[in-house]
Amino acid sequence: MAEQSRRLFLALWPEPALAERLHQLAGEAHRECGGRIMRRETLHLTLAFIGAVGEERLPELLTTLGRLRAPRFRMQLDVLGHWAHNHILWLGCTDAPPALPQLAADIRRELAAIGLPVSGPEFVPHMTLLRKAHVPRELPVFEPADWAVAEWVLVESRMTPHGADYQPLATWALD
Ligand code: ATP
Ligand code: MG
Repeated sequence: MAEQSRRLFLALWPEPALAERLHQLAGEAHRECGGRIMRRETLHLTLAFIGAVGEERLPELLTTLGRLRAPRFRMQLDVLGHWAHNHILWLGCTDAPPALPQLAADIRRELAAIGLPVSGPEFVPHMTLLRKAHVPRELPVFEPADWAVAEWVLVESRMTPHGADYQPLATWALD
């Protein structure tokens, strides 16, 4: 029988209160850009996208990533942007704390070490708020959101008729 594979990625997940606030901001941006709003509970910031991984590799993956030590950090979500190439309206930070790209790089290094190289573009921290968004003429003015990041998660993505459904498989605390 064929091994099951899982579609996996690593991410930062906002607490419900922050997610609710960001979801409201997405609603304001939606009035300008249209498109599809990410559901509140699916809002996240991807650290590294792994893709399909054979079920049998999960224990090793959990052990390897679970050994990683990294500091907690704060970030200011203070800028909205639109990417023409994929029609995404995103929320990001003008001044990312160094600990954030460092965490993403450490994860990539650990994954590569166990033969799971992360493909894809360079890490650009962003949270997708809208998909299929039109180019905005004007973006909402908003109060920056302060995000105290204390943990990161391994997530399984499953395709469903209403979009991707995300299931957390493991959560690791930052120091
Ligand atoms: P859908 O594909 O149904 O539109 P999605 O993109 O949110 O939903 P996934 O494709 O499983 O779901 O992706 C999970 C996360 O990983 C998302 O944040 C997505 O932007 C990111 N991601 C997906 N593919 C890549 C890739 N090749 N490189 C970098 N990040 C990726
Ligand atoms: Mg996708």
